[in-house]
Amino acid sequence: MRISGITPSGHTHLGNHLGAIQRWATDGGPDDLYFVSDLHAMTTTHNPGKLRGRTSEMLAILVAAGIPAERVFVQSDLSRELGALTWILECTCSYGEAARMIQFKEKGSGQPGVRLSLLTYPVLMAADILLQGAAEVPVGEDQNQHVELARALARRFNGTYGEVFTVPRPVLPPTGARVRDLSDPARKMSKSARDAAGVVFVLDEPDLIRRKVRRAVTDGFTGVEYAPEERPGVANLLEILAGCRGERPADVAAEFSSYGALKEAVAEAVVETLRPIRERTLELLADPAELARIRKEGASRAAERGEHRLTSAMRLIGAGM
Ligand code: ATP
Ligand code: MG
Repeated sequence: MRISGITPSGHTHLGNHLGAIQRWATDGGPDDLYFVSDLHAMTTTHNPGKLRGRTSEMLAILVAAGIPAERVFVQSDLSRELGALTWILECTCSYGEAARMIQFKEKGSGQPGVRLSLLTYPVLMAADILLQGAAEVPVGEDQNQHVELARALARRFNGTYGEVFTVPRPVLPPTGARVRDLSDPARKMSKSARDAAGVVFVLDEPDLIRRKVRRAVTDGFTGVEYAPEERPGVANLLEILAGCRGERPADVAAEFSSYGALKEAVAEAVVETLRPIRERTLELLADPAELARIRKEGASRAAERGEHRLTSAMRLIGAGM
């Protein structure tokens, strides 16, 4: 069983879709879980109203993209269970282990007013994984170290107090779809990009998508060729087109001789890929009762699934009734 999360630190973009959500919707196993990790979006300055809105939006997008509603939930709807398990795991984790996390060093260490949660969120992430008994966690390079921490904590808890947790393993998602920022192909497309000109959001209107793709940075070469090192901007466009069609970038390249024609094809493919998701998301967002029902059911299923692990862990560590 696998678990994956997406953080509502911004609006969902094409990279999230092609690199993660699309695959979650098509290759997920019958009891895989996907969650909107809203608690993880509070480790740096955040706006409560925006966070709430993005959380609903993201949940709606996951369902609209085709992930069965019974496999999604919102992290904060399990805050009691996760809060309790996080504490148990913090009591299993050394300060040094947490402080070694590269993400913490990069984002926070030494900065004034840095939130304690930025240091401890990998332990919450371990709780996300261990509560559900996930055996595999598909993660990118940047989160690998956090899954290793979850692994170490599961082993240590099991060895010290008794067998409760499945020891999870990080699995690298299939290579390919690493979508880059259209205006700066040196960076990956990201929710937290300062400038949205090169980021295509799942809910962008078709005309805006076309404009963003037309303005994508290319290069001064002629002809169309898939050469990620020398021609990263063009390679990105080819990867996007290939990702939308389920083909390979080098094969797609052979169809085009000019950047103009390539951009037109990319724009249309992206518009058509995102159109049904955008429409279904807007329908869901216009039906708060339906969205609330999905949220409630998702939360109670996930809480039930994890309950026996939390109860056993509490008992074994010497707490609870
Ligand atoms: P942030 O900038 O806040 O880290 P993000 O866009 O990287 O946001 P995450 O919530 O970190 O999004 O990741 C959600 C999922 O989307 C992960 O599975 C991640 O690997 C995938 N993902 C994120 N950005 C890209 C991208 N540019 N191309 C492909 N996949 C991506
Ligand atoms: Mg990220």
